[in-house]
Amino acid sequence: VVVVRDLHKSFGDVEVLKGIDLTIRRGEVVCVIGPSGSGKSTLLRCVNLLEEPTRGSVLIEGEDITDPDCDIDEVRSRLGMVFQQFNLFPHLTALQNCVLAQTNVLRRGKAEAEKVAQHNLERVGLGGRGDAHPAQLSGGQQQRVAIARALSMNPDLMLFDEPTSALDPELVGDVLSVMRLLAKEGMTMMVVTHEMAFARDVADRVIFMDGGVIVEEGEPSRVIGAPEHERTRAFLQRVL
Ligand code: ATP
Ligand code: MG
Repeated sequence: VVVVRDLHKSFGDVEVLKGIDLTIRRGEVVCVIGPSGSGKSTLLRCVNLLEEPTRGSVLIEGEDITDPDCDIDEVRSRLGMVFQQFNLFPHLTALQNCVLAQTNVLRRGKAEAEKVAQHNLERVGLGGRGDAHPAQLSGGQQQRVAIARALSMNPDLMLFDEPTSALDPELVGDVLSVMRLLAKEGMTMMVVTHEMAFARDVADRVIFMDGGVIVEEGEPSRVIGAPEHERTRAFLQRVL
């Protein structure tokens, strides 16, 4: 689904990504871990072109999204994105939040979009809260609405950037359960997370980044359970 080749990204003269190569296959769940500032968010943001790579390419379903001829809006409509901050529209209800991009971007009719939105609110356990405004929902519920909104676009790939980091600890579990469910249903997912238990249980592959490179990657039991590199070991010792 996604092929990243020799990806570099600099901000001014600071090189944040120093040559990332990565392939994510259909149905695969890849968790990206690593210390603060290692370039995890920048990598994710290059995959959806919120940041423009300095060098290298990102192919999504074979299409090079760094090619100037590529229709980035069309590509983005195939990617679901969930961030630390939920970024819901505060003046819209949960259901309306899930409807908006469907009608605006996918040109779905209102009735169909509402049906899809309702279905996805049910998937995240909020079927009964479609009429609520974001301010009336807990952080965990808001994040689940954000996931339902992303799912309503029928994405080929879901990108998560620390989706539970802004949540109170008791609300983290509900969001992770929804993500586990998606993984089980075969959704292709790239997840930046500090939740090591989630990475260990759910990921097909764990990528450890440090200093703008992939230091090591592999099965979660190996990377988290028996890391080969000193830097990985040092990081895990701090977070586990
Ligand atoms: P965290 O775990 O704290 O979220 P991260 O691994 O996601 O960290 P990035 O956000 O990708 O790290 O940032 C990597 C480096 O790039 C940091 O040093 C950061 O200051 C720098 N950086 C990120 N975005 C920009 C920007 N828009 N302009 C300048 N520097 C940036
Ligand atoms: Mg980050």
